[in-house]
Amino acid sequence: MTPEQKSINELKSTILSELSEAPSLGDLIFITQNTYMTIDHHIDLWKANDNPSFACQSGCGHCCFQAVWVTEPEVILLAEAIRNQDSPLLKRAAEMNEITKSMDLEERKNTPVACPFLYEDKTCFVYEVRPVACRFVYSNDETACINDLQNRTEGVGVFSRPIDQANQIRSALVSALYDIDLHCHTLDLNAALTIAMVDPSAGERWLNGENSFEKAIAPDQTVDIIDLSRGVTGDI
Ligand code: SF4
Repeated sequence: MTPEQKSINELKSTILSELSEAPSLGDLIFITQNTYMTIDHHIDLWKANDNPSFACQSGCGHCCFQAVWVTEPEVILLAEAIRNQDSPLLKRAAEMNEITKSMDLEERKNTPVACPFLYEDKTCFVYEVRPVACRFVYSNDETACINDLQNRTEGVGVFSRPIDQANQIRSALVSALYDIDLHCHTLDLNAALTIAMVDPSAGERWLNGENSFEKAIAPDQTVDIIDLSRGVTGDI
C-alpha cells in the first residue's frame, strides 16, 4: 500500500472520531465536505499518477441531463449551500421534479432532463458542493457523450478507478453514520432537493432519526448506492 492509500476501515474510524453520537447539522456538513475533499484528493492522485486521457472539461455538461442519485448528507449539504442565496434554484428544482417524479428508471434513462444546477453556459452552479456522482465520472470520449445525450443509445466509456474510489470513500461515510443510527438511502436529487428546500427542517429531522427524505428514495434497488458490506473493507 502506498502512503496515500488508506483502508476504508481507517477512513471510517477517522470519520467516527469526528462525529458525536448526536451530530448537529453543522457537524454533518463539515464531515460531508471533508469526504468530498478526500474524494477529490484521490481523484487528483489518479490524474497525476495514471495520466488518464479523459475528455471532460468545464462547460461540456453533456452528462448533466441524467438522473443524479445522492444520499441524505449530500442533499443536506447542497440545500444548506443554496438556501440563503437569491436564486431561482428552488423553483427550478421543483419544476424538474414535476417532470421526473412520475418517471420509472427506464424513462429516466431515455429522457434527458437538465439538472436544476446546470447554467446556460453548461457550468455547474454548485460545483464546489456537487454530489459524489458528479465528481467521479470521467469520460474517455466527448463524441460518445454528445451521442448519448442526443440519442440515448450509445453508452459512454468512463474510467472505473475514480468511480470505485469515490464510492468506497462515500461508503465509509455512510457506514460511519449507520453506526450512530443515521441511515442513508439512495435518493433522486430533484425530489430530495425539493423536499429539503420546501421544508428547511428536513435535514434536522433526518438527524433526529426521521426518514424525512422517504419520498425521494430511488424506485429500484438497481440504483442502490448504499452498500455497507462493500464500504467497510478494502483500500482506496
Ligand atoms: S450538480 Fe452540477 S455537475 Fe452535477 S449534474 Fe447538476 S449541474 Fe451537472
